[in-house]
Amino acid sequence: MSDDEKRFAPISTRQVPRFAGVSTFLRLPQHADARDVDVLIVGAPFDGGTTFRPGARFGPRGVRIASALTRGFVLEQNVNLFESLRCADGGDVLCIPMSIERTLENIRARVADIAAHGAVPALVGGDHTITLGALRALAAQHGPLGLVHFDAHSDTFGPAWGIDVHHGTVFRHAAEEQLLRRNDVLQIGLRGPLTAADDLEAAKRYGFKIVSADQVADDLLGVARTISALTGSGPVYVSFDMDALDPVYAPGTGTPVPGGLTSREALRLVRALQGVEIVGCDVVEISPDHDSTGNTALLAASLLTEILATLAATRAGSFAAR
Ligand code: MN
Ligand code: MN
Repeated sequence: MSDDEKRFAPISTRQVPRFAGVSTFLRLPQHADARDVDVLIVGAPFDGGTTFRPGARFGPRGVRIASALTRGFVLEQNVNLFESLRCADGGDVLCIPMSIERTLENIRARVADIAAHGAVPALVGGDHTITLGALRALAAQHGPLGLVHFDAHSDTFGPAWGIDVHHGTVFRHAAEEQLLRRNDVLQIGLRGPLTAADDLEAAKRYGFKIVSADQVADDLLGVARTISALTGSGPVYVSFDMDALDPVYAPGTGTPVPGGLTSREALRLVRALQGVEIVGCDVVEISPDHDSTGNTALLAASLLTEILATLAATRAGSFAAR
């Protein structure tokens, strides 16, 4: 491993113990310039698009702290993430608590800059609204994107209190702005109760493929194969809303819904992304103050690690047996 590669990997635990030092994503060096890395992880500490309980603005900080326990070699994927990908903590995008519009523009500009330098942007939220900024930037760069979206909710709903852009409308806007290849959109983990029978009509009209939490429980491998089938479809964005998980595993989120995925199901499905052309990803809706155990942030850090490991495995061409 060259000095250059070493520099963009986590700091050695022999040098700095896991409980010491300044917290960064995955114990990576702080480095803002995307041209030097393959993956730049940036925080988007924003919860101004939240419709229920706030707190996701503290998500990036919580994930940095929980990241102390992450490791690079993912056994189940047989890959060391940091051997093939130079990664860094790019800091936080300036998110303005009282302006969704300016926040989304700042996120769009930051993600556009990262992508323009050939690096993959990985965002840590923040509420789900932040994804719209990332999708705008990446669709401008790559054309319409496929999407693997883990969530309890479809986020294709209507305006709230007259405001059309919030964390529950992100993928309706993305579809209407032609940012997505609608037939390559998977929404995984959705469940009721819903407000009305026609709540998912917009998603169905767009051609999104909806995979309920029950379907995941009933046929985990089948759902994994559905994800893998996006291999070769073109550029794909991965968006993981922590409320896809059952609140037992991830209570620290803005709008928890019982009956969700287990940690193991979520990790298993994320690993199925191997081979898919991931051009950007995020983990969102982490609200650490609602989780005294710290588990939500730890899971978010783990999911981020696993998503990036699929990218490493895809690039290294080393596919674990499925
Ligand atoms: Mn969401
Ligand atoms: Mn949700």
